[in-house]
Amino acid sequence: MKEILNDEEFFEVIEKGEGYIYNDFSGQGKSGNLYNILHSADCPYLRRANTGPRKYYFDTLREARDWLIKNRGKEDVNWKKCGFCLR
Ligand SMILES: [Zn+2]
Repeated sequence: MKEILNDEEFFEVIEKGEGYIYNDFSGQGKSGNLYNILHSADCPYLRRANTGPRKYYFDTLREARDWLIKNRGKEDVNWKKCGFCLR
């Protein structure tokens, strides 16, 4: 897991299109199931995003799931996978 610190790093990762990016919009707040979304780095939705909300990078889906379950909670309750790129 690696925190993405600025727009430059963020655009570098989506340009490469490898790995996974988690958009930590609500953190551990209640609306996590709506806005805390894990994407594939090549997801077109990420192209409209910026690093306003904190973002984390993961090499593999497994690493992302393990971290999210440990640090955010249950899938589809505290976070979810993008319905477009990770169905
Ligand atoms: Zn996506």
